[in-house]
Amino acid sequence: STPVTYAAGLAATAQKGIIVKGGAKLEALGSVKTVVFDKTGTLTEGKFHLTHLDAVGGMKDRREVLSLLSTMEAPSSHPLAATLVNAAKAEGIEQSANAQVADHTILHGEGVQAMVNGEQVYVGNVRLFERLGMYDALNVVDRRRAESWNEEGGTVGFLGLDGVGIVGMFCVSDVVRSEAASVVGSLMKDEVKVLMLTGDGEGAAISVAEKVGLPLWNVKSRLTPDAKFHCIASELGLSKRSGGLFSKKELLMFVGDGVNDAPALSLADIGVAMGEGAALAMEMSDVTLMDSKLDKLLFSIQMGTKVVMTVQ
Ligand code: ADP
Ligand code: MG
Repeated sequence: STPVTYAAGLAATAQKGIIVKGGAKLEALGSVKTVVFDKTGTLTEGKFHLTHLDAVGGMKDRREVLSLLSTMEAPSSHPLAATLVNAAKAEGIEQSANAQVADHTILHGEGVQAMVNGEQVYVGNVRLFERLGMYDALNVVDRRRAESWNEEGGTVGFLGLDGVGIVGMFCVSDVVRSEAASVVGSLMKDEVKVLMLTGDGEGAAISVAEKVGLPLWNVKSRLTPDAKFHCIASELGLSKRSGGLFSKKELLMFVGDGVNDAPALSLADIGVAMGEGAALAMEMSDVTLMDSKLDKLLFSIQMGTKVVMTVQ
Protein backbone atom coordinates (compact mmCIF):
# COMPACT_ATOMS: atom_id res chain seq x y z
CA SER A 1 0.00 0.00 0.00
CA THR A 2 1.04 3.59 -0.60
CA PRO A 3 2.62 5.62 2.18
CA VAL A 4 0.83 8.67 3.50
CA THR A 5 2.01 11.89 5.20
CA TYR A 6 0.80 12.84 8.69
CA ALA A 7 -1.39 15.64 7.30
CA ALA A 8 -2.96 13.46 4.62
CA GLY A 9 -3.54 10.64 7.15
CA LEU A 10 -5.22 12.96 9.64
CA ALA A 11 -7.37 14.44 6.88
CA ALA A 12 -8.42 10.99 5.65
CA THR A 13 -9.39 9.80 9.13
CA ALA A 14 -11.20 13.08 9.93
CA GLN A 15 -13.20 12.72 6.74
CA LYS A 16 -14.46 9.35 8.01
CA GLY A 17 -15.49 10.87 11.34
CA ILE A 18 -12.43 9.56 13.20
CA ILE A 19 -10.87 12.29 15.30
CA VAL A 20 -7.18 11.48 15.96
CA LYS A 21 -5.34 13.82 18.32
CA GLY A 22 -2.20 14.46 16.28
CA GLY A 23 0.31 12.77 13.99
CA ALA A 24 2.14 10.91 16.76
CA LYS A 25 -1.08 9.16 17.83
CA LEU A 26 -1.94 8.34 14.22
CA GLU A 27 1.47 6.74 13.79
CA ALA A 28 1.04 4.83 17.06
CA LEU A 29 -2.17 3.28 15.67
CA GLY A 30 0.05 1.31 13.27
CA SER A 31 1.73 -0.46 16.21
CA VAL A 32 -1.40 -1.71 17.99
CA LYS A 33 -0.93 -5.34 19.08
CA THR A 34 -3.57 -5.57 21.83
CA VAL A 35 -7.12 -4.21 21.75
CA VAL A 36 -9.14 -4.15 24.99
CA PHE A 37 -12.87 -3.56 24.59
CA ASP A 38 -15.34 -2.45 27.23
CA LYS A 39 -18.64 -4.32 26.77
CA THR A 40 -21.65 -2.12 27.46
CA GLY A 41 -22.01 0.69 24.93
CA THR A 42 -18.86 -0.43 23.11
CA LEU A 43 -19.24 -3.98 21.76
CA THR A 44 -22.97 -3.59 22.45
CA GLU A 45 -25.21 -0.66 21.58
CA GLY A 46 -25.87 0.16 25.23
CA LYS A 47 -29.58 0.29 24.44
CA PHE A 48 -31.15 -2.09 26.90
CA HIS A 49 -34.72 -3.32 26.96
CA LEU A 50 -36.46 -4.71 30.00
CA THR A 51 -37.01 -8.49 29.75
CA HIS A 52 -38.10 -9.40 33.30
CA LEU A 53 -39.38 -7.54 36.34
CA ASP A 54 -40.67 -9.10 39.56
CA ALA A 55 -41.55 -8.00 43.05
CA VAL A 56 -39.80 -10.10 45.71
CA GLY A 57 -40.84 -10.93 49.26
CA GLY A 58 -44.31 -9.34 49.18
CA MET A 59 -43.27 -5.92 50.53
CA LYS A 60 -44.13 -4.09 47.30
CA ASP A 61 -46.12 -4.94 44.17
CA ARG A 62 -44.65 -4.93 40.67
CA ARG A 63 -45.85 -1.38 39.89
CA GLU A 64 -44.33 -0.03 43.09
CA VAL A 65 -41.05 -1.73 42.28
CA LEU A 66 -40.96 -0.18 38.79
CA SER A 67 -41.92 3.23 40.15
CA LEU A 68 -39.15 3.17 42.77
CA LEU A 69 -36.63 1.93 40.18
CA SER A 70 -37.57 4.86 37.95
CA THR A 71 -37.19 7.35 40.81
CA MET A 72 -33.77 5.89 41.68
CA GLU A 73 -32.46 5.86 38.10
CA ALA A 74 -33.77 9.21 36.85
CA PRO A 75 -30.65 11.15 37.95
CA SER A 76 -28.09 8.55 36.74
CA SER A 77 -26.49 8.43 33.29
CA HIS A 78 -25.72 4.70 32.94
CA PRO A 79 -27.28 3.17 29.77
CA LEU A 80 -29.24 0.87 32.07
CA ALA A 81 -30.87 3.79 33.90
CA ALA A 82 -32.75 5.26 30.93
CA THR A 83 -34.18 1.80 30.20
CA LEU A 84 -35.81 1.54 33.61
CA VAL A 85 -37.15 5.10 33.47
CA ASN A 86 -38.64 4.47 30.01
CA ALA A 87 -40.09 1.11 31.03
CA ALA A 88 -41.93 2.84 33.87
CA LYS A 89 -43.23 5.54 31.51
CA ALA A 90 -44.40 2.86 29.05
CA GLU A 91 -46.54 1.34 31.82
CA GLY A 92 -48.00 4.77 32.64
CA ILE A 93 -45.97 5.16 35.81
CA GLU A 94 -44.82 8.75 36.11
CA GLN A 95 -42.19 9.61 38.66
CA SER A 96 -44.12 10.60 41.69
CA ALA A 97 -43.63 14.33 42.26
CA ASN A 98 -43.82 13.93 46.02
CA ALA A 99 -40.99 11.39 46.25
CA GLN A 100 -38.29 13.13 48.30
CA VAL A 101 -34.94 12.01 46.90
CA ALA A 102 -31.77 12.92 48.79
CA ASP A 103 -28.10 11.85 48.79
CA HIS A 104 -28.29 10.25 45.34
CA THR A 105 -24.93 8.55 44.80
CA ILE A 106 -23.51 6.61 41.84
CA LEU A 107 -21.78 3.42 42.97
CA HIS A 108 -19.37 2.92 40.06
CA GLY A 109 -19.63 -0.52 38.48
CA GLU A 110 -22.33 -1.48 40.98
CA GLY A 111 -25.42 0.73 40.79
CA VAL A 112 -26.91 3.66 42.68
CA GLN A 113 -28.07 4.52 46.21
CA ALA A 114 -30.35 7.28 47.53
CA MET A 115 -32.66 8.23 50.37
CA VAL A 116 -36.25 8.12 49.13
CA ASN A 117 -38.86 9.50 51.53
CA GLY A 118 -36.42 8.95 54.37
CA GLU A 119 -35.64 5.36 53.43
CA GLN A 120 -32.21 4.16 52.22
CA VAL A 121 -32.71 2.50 48.82
CA TYR A 122 -30.26 0.62 46.57
CA VAL A 123 -30.39 -0.45 42.91
CA GLY A 124 -27.63 -2.50 41.36
CA ASN A 125 -26.02 -5.82 40.57
CA VAL A 126 -25.29 -9.00 42.54
CA ARG A 127 -21.93 -7.69 43.69
CA LEU A 128 -23.56 -4.65 45.34
CA PHE A 129 -26.14 -6.77 47.14
CA GLU A 130 -23.50 -9.29 48.22
CA ARG A 131 -21.52 -6.41 49.69
CA LEU A 132 -24.65 -5.18 51.49
CA GLY A 133 -25.29 -8.67 52.82
CA MET A 134 -28.74 -8.74 51.19
CA TYR A 135 -28.07 -11.27 48.43
CA ASP A 136 -27.47 -14.20 50.79
CA ALA A 137 -30.83 -13.49 52.42
CA LEU A 138 -32.65 -13.93 49.12
CA ASN A 139 -34.72 -17.12 48.99
CA VAL A 140 -33.63 -20.03 46.82
CA VAL A 141 -36.43 -19.68 44.26
CA ASP A 142 -35.72 -16.01 43.50
CA ARG A 143 -32.00 -16.64 43.48
CA ARG A 144 -32.43 -19.48 40.97
CA ARG A 145 -34.53 -17.18 38.78
CA ALA A 146 -31.85 -14.47 38.85
CA GLU A 147 -29.23 -17.07 37.92
CA SER A 148 -31.34 -18.35 35.03
CA TRP A 149 -31.80 -14.80 33.66
CA ASN A 150 -28.04 -14.37 33.90
CA GLU A 151 -27.48 -17.63 32.03
CA GLU A 152 -29.83 -16.40 29.27
CA GLY A 153 -27.27 -13.60 28.80
CA GLY A 154 -29.24 -10.86 30.53
CA THR A 155 -27.97 -8.17 32.89
CA VAL A 156 -29.63 -8.81 36.24
CA GLY A 157 -30.35 -6.11 38.81
CA PHE A 158 -32.03 -5.78 42.19
CA LEU A 159 -33.92 -3.21 44.24
CA GLY A 160 -33.24 -3.27 47.97
CA LEU A 161 -34.25 -1.37 51.09
CA ASP A 162 -31.93 -0.92 54.03
CA GLY A 163 -33.07 -3.03 56.97
CA VAL A 164 -35.57 -4.94 54.81
CA GLY A 165 -33.64 -6.61 51.99
CA ILE A 166 -34.32 -7.23 48.32
CA VAL A 167 -37.86 -6.20 47.28
CA GLY A 168 -37.54 -6.42 43.49
CA MET A 169 -35.46 -7.89 40.69
CA PHE A 170 -35.20 -7.20 36.99
CA CYS A 171 -33.33 -8.24 33.90
CA VAL A 172 -32.36 -6.09 30.92
CA SER A 173 -30.87 -7.17 27.64
CA ASP A 174 -28.60 -5.36 25.21
CA VAL A 175 -27.91 -5.78 21.49
CA VAL A 176 -24.43 -6.53 20.11
CA ARG A 177 -23.36 -3.96 17.49
CA SER A 178 -23.89 -5.35 14.01
CA GLU A 179 -20.26 -4.82 12.98
CA ALA A 180 -18.70 -6.07 16.25
CA ALA A 181 -18.10 -9.69 15.19
CA SER A 182 -16.41 -8.80 11.89
CA VAL A 183 -14.17 -6.20 13.59
CA VAL A 184 -13.09 -8.64 16.31
CA GLY A 185 -12.54 -11.31 13.64
CA SER A 186 -10.38 -9.03 11.48
CA LEU A 187 -8.25 -7.97 14.43
CA MET A 188 -7.67 -11.58 15.51
CA LYS A 189 -6.84 -12.59 11.93
CA ASP A 190 -4.16 -9.88 11.96
CA GLU A 191 -2.77 -11.47 15.15
CA VAL A 192 -3.96 -8.66 17.39
CA LYS A 193 -4.78 -9.91 20.91
CA VAL A 194 -8.40 -8.96 21.67
CA LEU A 195 -9.80 -8.78 25.21
CA MET A 196 -13.16 -7.80 26.70
CA LEU A 197 -13.47 -6.35 30.21
CA THR A 198 -16.83 -5.74 31.83
CA GLY A 199 -18.43 -4.84 35.11
CA ASP A 200 -21.43 -6.93 34.10
CA GLY A 201 -22.12 -10.51 35.23
CA GLU A 202 -20.60 -13.65 33.75
CA GLY A 203 -23.70 -14.70 31.80
CA ALA A 204 -24.02 -11.39 29.95
CA ALA A 205 -20.25 -11.39 29.29
CA ILE A 206 -20.25 -14.92 27.87
CA SER A 207 -23.27 -14.20 25.69
CA VAL A 208 -21.59 -11.16 24.07
CA ALA A 209 -18.23 -12.96 23.74
CA GLU A 210 -19.89 -15.83 21.89
CA LYS A 211 -21.74 -13.45 19.57
CA VAL A 212 -18.57 -11.57 18.60
CA GLY A 213 -16.35 -14.68 18.44
CA LEU A 214 -14.06 -13.87 21.36
CA PRO A 215 -12.35 -16.78 23.14
CA LEU A 216 -13.63 -16.93 26.72
CA TRP A 217 -10.13 -16.89 28.22
CA ASN A 218 -9.83 -13.33 26.90
CA VAL A 219 -12.96 -12.25 28.79
CA LYS A 220 -13.16 -10.86 32.33
CA SER A 221 -16.46 -10.07 34.04
CA ARG A 222 -17.71 -8.54 37.31
CA LEU A 223 -14.87 -6.02 37.31
CA THR A 224 -14.97 -2.77 39.26
CA PRO A 225 -13.59 0.27 37.38
CA ASP A 226 -10.48 -0.18 39.56
CA ALA A 227 -10.09 -3.83 38.56
CA LYS A 228 -10.41 -2.86 34.87
CA PHE A 229 -7.58 -0.40 35.39
CA HIS A 230 -5.39 -3.12 36.92
CA CYS A 231 -6.16 -5.59 34.11
CA ILE A 232 -4.96 -3.02 31.57
CA ALA A 233 -1.88 -2.23 33.63
CA SER A 234 -0.93 -5.90 33.66
CA GLU A 235 -1.55 -6.25 29.89
CA LEU A 236 0.65 -3.20 29.34
CA GLY A 237 3.35 -4.88 31.41
CA LEU A 238 3.07 -8.06 29.32
CA SER A 239 3.32 -6.23 26.00
CA LYS A 240 6.34 -4.22 27.17
CA ARG A 241 8.13 -7.38 28.35
CA SER A 242 7.55 -9.22 25.08
CA GLY A 243 9.03 -6.32 23.08
CA GLY A 244 12.80 -6.93 22.93
CA LEU A 245 15.42 -4.30 22.23
CA PHE A 246 15.23 -4.62 18.46
CA SER A 247 11.62 -5.61 18.10
CA LYS A 248 8.91 -3.18 17.04
CA LYS A 249 6.73 -1.28 19.45
CA GLU A 250 3.73 -3.25 20.65
CA LEU A 251 1.02 -0.87 21.77
CA LEU A 252 -2.24 -1.40 23.64
CA MET A 253 -5.52 0.21 22.63
CA PHE A 254 -8.52 0.53 24.94
CA VAL A 255 -11.97 1.20 23.46
CA GLY A 256 -14.78 2.42 25.73
CA ASP A 257 -17.99 4.43 25.79
CA GLY A 258 -16.89 6.54 28.71
CA VAL A 259 -19.18 5.47 31.55
CA ASN A 260 -16.52 4.78 34.25
CA ASP A 261 -13.85 4.42 31.56
CA ALA A 262 -11.75 7.55 32.08
CA PRO A 263 -8.93 5.81 34.04
CA ALA A 264 -8.62 3.03 31.44
CA LEU A 265 -8.68 5.50 28.55
CA SER A 266 -5.79 7.50 29.96
CA LEU A 267 -3.70 4.45 30.97
CA ALA A 268 -3.78 2.74 27.55
CA ASP A 269 -1.20 3.70 24.90
CA ILE A 270 -4.15 4.67 22.72
CA GLY A 271 -7.55 5.43 24.27
CA VAL A 272 -10.50 5.28 21.88
CA ALA A 273 -13.86 6.82 22.84
CA MET A 274 -17.19 6.11 21.24
CA GLY A 275 -18.60 9.43 19.99
CA GLU A 276 -22.07 8.67 21.32
CA GLY A 277 -20.64 8.14 24.79
CA ALA A 278 -19.71 10.55 27.58
CA ALA A 279 -18.15 13.91 26.71
CA LEU A 280 -15.46 13.41 29.36
CA ALA A 281 -14.33 10.24 27.57
CA MET A 282 -13.76 12.16 24.34
CA GLU A 283 -11.65 14.67 26.23
CA MET A 284 -9.51 11.89 27.78
CA SER A 285 -9.13 9.91 24.57
CA ASP A 286 -6.56 9.92 21.75
CA VAL A 287 -9.11 8.84 19.16
CA THR A 288 -12.88 9.43 18.96
CA LEU A 289 -15.17 7.47 16.65
CA MET A 290 -17.82 10.16 16.05
CA ASP A 291 -20.56 7.79 14.88
CA SER A 292 -19.50 4.92 17.21
CA LYS A 293 -18.99 2.52 14.27
CA LEU A 294 -16.36 -0.03 15.31
CA ASP A 295 -15.24 -0.82 11.74
CA LYS A 296 -13.60 2.60 11.73
CA LEU A 297 -11.06 1.15 14.17
CA LEU A 298 -9.74 -1.02 11.33
CA PHE A 299 -9.51 1.96 8.99
CA SER A 300 -7.61 4.03 11.56
CA ILE A 301 -5.15 1.18 12.28
CA GLN A 302 -4.53 0.79 8.53
CA MET A 303 -3.97 4.52 8.18
CA GLY A 304 -1.52 4.36 11.10
CA THR A 305 0.44 1.64 9.29
CA LYS A 306 0.70 3.74 6.14
CA VAL A 307 1.94 6.76 8.08
CA VAL A 308 4.63 4.62 9.69
CA MET A 309 5.90 3.68 6.26
CA THR A 310 6.54 7.31 5.27
CA VAL A 311 8.60 8.08 8.35
CA GLN A 312 10.74 4.94 8.14
P1 ADP B 1 -19.57 -2.27 31.65
O1 ADP B 1 -18.23 -2.71 32.12
O2 ADP B 1 -20.30 -3.40 30.99
O3 ADP B 1 -19.52 -1.03 30.78
P2 ADP B 1 -20.29 -0.80 34.09
O4 ADP B 1 -18.96 -0.83 34.75
O5 ADP B 1 -20.76 0.52 33.56
O6 ADP B 1 -20.43 -1.92 32.95
O7 ADP B 1 -21.37 -1.34 35.10
C1 ADP B 1 -21.21 -2.61 35.65
C2 ADP B 1 -22.50 -3.14 36.19
O8 ADP B 1 -22.92 -2.34 37.31
C3 ADP B 1 -23.65 -3.13 35.23
O9 ADP B 1 -23.66 -4.26 34.42
C4 ADP B 1 -24.83 -3.12 36.20
O10 ADP B 1 -25.07 -4.43 36.65
C5 ADP B 1 -24.33 -2.30 37.36
N1 ADP B 1 -24.76 -0.90 37.27
C6 ADP B 1 -24.01 0.17 36.92
N2 ADP B 1 -24.74 1.29 36.95
C7 ADP B 1 -25.99 0.94 37.29
C8 ADP B 1 -27.21 1.66 37.51
N3 ADP B 1 -27.32 2.98 37.34
N4 ADP B 1 -28.29 0.94 37.90
C9 ADP B 1 -28.22 -0.38 38.07
N5 ADP B 1 -27.12 -1.11 37.90
C10 ADP B 1 -26.00 -0.47 37.52
MG1 MG C 1 -19.30 0.84 29.85
